[in-house]
Amino acid sequence: MYRLILILGLLVVLYFLLRQAFRGFKNQNLDNRGVSEDQDQMVEDPVCHTFVPRRIAVVEKIGGQTYCFCSRQCAVTFQNQQTG
Ligand SMILES: [Zn+2]
Repeated sequence: MYRLILILGLLVVLYFLLRQAFRGFKNQNLDNRGVSEDQDQMVEDPVCHTFVPRRIAVVEKIGGQTYCFCSRQCAVTFQNQQTG
């Protein structure tokens, strides 16, 4: 009985590992579409150097450059730094 539970547990772990591997493989193949991949990309906040997923990052265009911040607070701090 315990062996059955152990095997079931291993199957679940294997399932999640395969799913993750498959998802990575799929992302590699579909890099022309790239939309969801881009949203999952980690971007660095230039102010506090925190890495945040692009989909939740605060994106600001400053001086023709696009910057990603962890919060609006950091975006404001960055703008203040730029203007001196
Ligand atoms: Zn920040």
